[in-house]
Amino acid sequence: MLNIVLFGPPGAGKGTQAAKLLDKHQLVHLSTGDILRAEIKAETQLGKEAKKFMEKGELVPDSVVIGMIESKIDANSSANGFIFDGFPRTNAQAVALDIMLAKKKINITLMLALEVDDDELIKRLLLRGKDSGRADDQDQKIIENRIKVYNKETAPVIEYYENQNKYKAIKGTGGIDEIFNRLCLAIDAVK
Ligand code: AMP
Repeated sequence: MLNIVLFGPPGAGKGTQAAKLLDKHQLVHLSTGDILRAEIKAETQLGKEAKKFMEKGELVPDSVVIGMIESKIDANSSANGFIFDGFPRTNAQAVALDIMLAKKKINITLMLALEVDDDELIKRLLLRGKDSGRADDQDQKIIENRIKVYNKETAPVIEYYENQNKYKAIKGTGGIDEIFNRLCLAIDAVK
């Protein structure tokens, strides 16, 4: 099994690169952001609760996303592997993921962290906001808060995987295929 944590700040290109990796390795994509947006669209109780946090650029509580991820893993028990995109976003989520996977005899293979500087992230997100329809991509204040929350609550997750020798930084600027190539080389090195 190949289980990748695709990591990085908002706008780093996780979604774009996840799509290419899924295609190449036949993996199941688990994006907590996508799952939450689907819950909002379906007007579920979970979606209504999550929306309050998402529209401010804050994190949805750990207990909500952890439970959500577990049910998606269980629903895909015959998968070749998973790409975790936008999860884990806190140390508590990283610990919960390891405990949950250990019970299923699954391991994270690698954490690939896309690196892009803040100015470029803001530029990319505002551009994406023009046609993504995502309110949190259209307001510079919300974007800046998402980056601030990333630096404070999410970036420490790097150390968690570094301690397990699973962390690999990947330059997240340049052409899409160039970045994809860097990811593929990192995966090939551990496969
Ligand atoms: P994303 O699509 O990954 O940019 O996520 C959009 C928003 O969904 C984030 O700003 C958070 O409010 C929420 N979200 C997504 N994934 C998580 C997570 N793992 N933990 C907490 N909140 C999350």
